[in-house]
Amino acid sequence: MHELSVTVELVDMVARRVPDDVRVTRVALEVGRLSGVMTSPLRFCFDLVAAGTSLDGARLDIAEPPGRGHCRRCGADVDLPDLLTPCGCGSREIELTGGEQVRITAVEVR
Ligand SMILES: [Zn+2]
Repeated sequence: MHELSVTVELVDMVARRVPDDVRVTRVALEVGRLSGVMTSPLRFCFDLVAAGTSLDGARLDIAEPPGRGHCRRCGADVDLPDLLTPCGCGSREIELTGGEQVRITAVEVR
């Protein structure tokens, strides 16, 4: 499962950056709607993957910013609920400008 490897990578990335005696209490993520990453398995995997690491018991907050694109035909900036939605002008030549990111936006420790 793709989401499991994403979760392992995220937990590992955070765990490597905090000292061993520091406990992480919250991790905030941004998972763009066009990233192809499902957030529910991510939430499900997080507790399992975090167990036994400095992230054990940490809260996971996930923001899901919508896709954004720039139409090459009419020049409009549009919201993209998915990759198949055309621009209002009918064009599908849309350059993605956002919504594909998966990144850590905040880490809280105690
Ligand atoms: Zn357009």
